[in-house]
Amino acid sequence: MKQRPFILDTLFRSINILPGIGPSSQKRIEKLIDGGKILDLLLHAPVDFIDRRFTPKIADAPNGQIATLQVRIDKHMPNTRKSLPYRVKAVDESGSMDLVFFHAKKPWIEKSLPLGETRIISGKVEYFHGKAQMVHPDSIGTIAEKADIQTVEPIYPLTQGVTNKVLRKSIMSAMKMAPDFPEWLDGAHMMRSKWPHWKEAIIKLHHPENEKDLEPLTPHRARLAYDELLANQITIALIRRNQVTISGRSFKTSSILRPKVLEALPFALTGAQERSLKEINEDMASNKRMLRLLQGDVGSGKTVVACLAALNAIENGSQAAILAPTEILARQHAESMKDWLEAAGVRYVILTGRDKGKKRETLVNQIKNGAAQLIIGTHAIFQDDIEYHDLGLAIIDEQHRFGVHQRLSLSSKSKSTDILVMTATPIPRTLSLTNYGDLEVSKLDEKPPGRKPIETLLIPKEKIEDLIAGLKRKISEGNRVYWVCPLVEESELIDLEAAEDRYDILKSFFPDRIGLVHGRMKAEDKDAVMQKFAAGELDLLVATTVIEVGVNVPEATIMVIEHAERFGLSQLHQLRGRVGRGSAQSYCFMLYSGPLGETAKERLSTMRDTEDGFVIAEKDLELRGSGDILGTKQSGEAHFKIANLAVHGDLLATAHTDAKLLIEKDPELTSERGQNIKTLLYMFERDQAIKYLKSG
Ligand code: ADP
Ligand code: MG
Repeated sequence: MKQRPFILDTLFRSINILPGIGPSSQKRIEKLIDGGKILDLLLHAPVDFIDRRFTPKIADAPNGQIATLQVRIDKHMPNTRKSLPYRVKAVDESGSMDLVFFHAKKPWIEKSLPLGETRIISGKVEYFHGKAQMVHPDSIGTIAEKADIQTVEPIYPLTQGVTNKVLRKSIMSAMKMAPDFPEWLDGAHMMRSKWPHWKEAIIKLHHPENEKDLEPLTPHRARLAYDELLANQITIALIRRNQVTISGRSFKTSSILRPKVLEALPFALTGAQERSLKEINEDMASNKRMLRLLQGDVGSGKTVVACLAALNAIENGSQAAILAPTEILARQHAESMKDWLEAAGVRYVILTGRDKGKKRETLVNQIKNGAAQLIIGTHAIFQDDIEYHDLGLAIIDEQHRFGVHQRLSLSSKSKSTDILVMTATPIPRTLSLTNYGDLEVSKLDEKPPGRKPIETLLIPKEKIEDLIAGLKRKISEGNRVYWVCPLVEESELIDLEAAEDRYDILKSFFPDRIGLVHGRMKAEDKDAVMQKFAAGELDLLVATTVIEVGVNVPEATIMVIEHAERFGLSQLHQLRGRVGRGSAQSYCFMLYSGPLGETAKERLSTMRDTEDGFVIAEKDLELRGSGDILGTKQSGEAHFKIANLAVHGDLLATAHTDAKLLIEKDPELTSERGQNIKTLLYMFERDQAIKYLKSG
């Protein structure tokens, strides 16, 4: 059993041991800091500060400025009516000012500001009718507490029910528990970059004194970001080292089945498809294990490449599996490949979470005894009780929905299985590094021929009736339309209501040939509606974002996105990619409600101006920071607290090299630095990586 070093124990304790954190604030804070450990709290970085070091006399305190004053409490003037404030007269040798309290409790005021005593108060000084006053001082304390008040106060990102005061107090006490770690960073590198040790960096993080201290590249922040990036890169280096040292198997490139499929295709492969396939063939033919990313924008034709790659394994008597993120997509893959597979006589099965009982048992058996040559499905195909006869190739579609863990459970099905990962989201290098390390990449950078650019139009919501009239005309000319309703909140139920309302309204315009799909429908019902739309029995499909990924209905030419301003860039790009898949002119109408914020404006105009997925992804990264471009939040990988790939790209590149050299020199992390690095890995709970070391 590998053991977390004791030195990390305090950082892994629950925040509820800190003073001032009760059961309800604990929940709120945990949500806010995205974790429940002292460490999570320590990595919650301030976004601003208030300087309370200015200590003028009352008479010298300027209007509108934050000041900390030492005053004597001279007089209490309780409010005579509820609507009036309670005033307390405070004096020093230079003059007097009123401390003003609305709706305050008398006993509290009397206790905090006792008559005749000296108190330290801090807050914004304001002049009212020519006289200084302070409305609700931010801090009140005794002379003994002066040093605590007269400081620079960090301002944290907050959430409802958690005040800056509470958060700050708990962070300050958490800081007292921060240990001094033996250094895991390279000394020379730290010196060059002027980076402090971990504990110093944490202390500095929470004691900003000027604007510069808040900048992401300031030494203490850069150091903490580097720690995260390095932990990430070492994890990837270890996983990768472990995977490529497993020798793969050598599959001869299919020469019997492939020509049959190529003949059944209604099109010729694009140059990019040919090239990618060649790269895949070479990997599969070599006896090293394949770990390849097939990156191609929506509609670039990844499915057929996957199918042809699968034939390599199948023709060599092995099995291939295609893992899709959703039920609909799994079925759609099978549907697209059906004719091709039948032409080559390949036996395939579809297995999803929906299959239960006898049906499932039969499928499981076919997988086990090898009767199934190609297995298409959702994560159900990699559940613990699924045994493969001989899995030679695993293809993971729309990879960004899966995490490191899934990938690992997949490799445990067969140690030498070749892996092909397909992603539609063009991944900026920074993201592909943090998520895959240096996976080999094949790019489908060329769309199938004959595609016309999608015309994208921004339409204010007020013009919705014109749009509907336009759709009527288009539909009568034979076009098929998606109408996507937005995420209203993080609640599927509210989403659903919005979609249902829209459906009812549209139904009055298009009574018969309209359908609705949403996330809460039973999978069978969802498929049935999608199927009708694909078959042309419906003209208009109203949907929540369930259609986001991968759906392929080449005859659909119009995409309406309602409240487009609420979607992220990559989501908009994915949605728009549902049309423009045939040779007919396609349109995307983005309905928006103003007024638009700056980012929303940028997002929408980016969409209007380009269809290039790469440009869109870069812009997305810029607008959002690192965030969850790959849906990594859900999958729990490469999700950083301090590091931000939009600004720390250079650090990432350094961490990448650092990790690579380190693992080459010291693969078991036994050197002194290696030992300390282990602590770093445990700190960020990189257990998967630690698993690969002989001794924890
Ligand atoms: P994605 O990369 O988004 O998964 P698909 O594999 O679903 O794209 O392909 C999109 C559409 O393009 C499909 O209808 C597919 O049959 C078609 N297609 C794929 N390759 C070609 C090609 N070389 N020429 C013409 N059409 C193609
Ligand atoms: Mg696809």
